[in-house]
Amino acid sequence: MGLRAALARRLLPDERLPSVFDLDAGRLRARGIEGIVFDLDNTLGPWGFQRLDERTLRFLESLRREGFRLGFLSNHEGDGREELRARLGDCPMLFNAGKPRKRGFQKILALLDLPPERVAMVGDQLFTDVWGAKRMGMYTIWVHPVAPDREELSVRVRRFLERQLWRWLGQGLEQGQGQGPSEADGEREAHVEGGPVEARQAHEER
Ligand SMILES: [Mg+2]
Repeated sequence: MGLRAALARRLLPDERLPSVFDLDAGRLRARGIEGIVFDLDNTLGPWGFQRLDERTLRFLESLRREGFRLGFLSNHEGDGREELRARLGDCPMLFNAGKPRKRGFQKILALLDLPPERVAMVGDQLFTDVWGAKRMGMYTIWVHPVAPDREELSVRVRRFLERQLWRWLGQGLEQGQGQGPSEADGEREAHVEGGPVEARQAHEER
C-alpha cells in the first residue's frame, strides 16, 4: 500500500456531510452506531457560541428520542457555557479534550459506556476530530464548519491544508474505497458548498 492510501485510511472520514442536519439516523443505526459524539465549535454553532439555536437543540433532542446516547467533546475552555450544559442536561460534555490525543476520546467513550465501534464522532476538523476518532476505531463524520468566515487566520490556514489533503488523498483511493473525491466530486463539492450557508442561516434564526 502506498503512502497516500495508508494516509487515506488514517485520515479520511467515513462520511462527509454539509452539516449536522444531514446526519442519517437510520443509516447510523444500520451500522450499529448507538452513540454520537459532537464537537462543539463550528460543528453545532459558530466558533465560541454559548447557546444552541432552537433548530439544533430540537435536532439533538430528536436523536436522543431515537435512542442515541449523545456526548460532546471540545478542545476549548468551558467558560461561559453553563447554559449549554444546562440545556443538554445529562449528556456528557468534556472541555479541554486535547483532540486528537486519545485521552479525551477514551473519557467520553467511558462516560457513554459504549465501545468505539458503536460511536460516531461528528466534527468540522480533519486533524483533530476525524483523525483522533479514527485512531480510536470510531465511525467518523466530517461536516463543513458552521461559520468559517469568523475564524482566525491560523484556522483558515489549517482548513486550506485540510482541503488540499482531502483532494490529494482522494486521488489515491481505489474505486469504491472510502468516501474520497471521485468523478462525482464536482457535484458533491457543489452540494457541500450549499450546506454551510443553509446551516449558518439556521443558526442565525433565533
Ligand atoms: Mg470544531
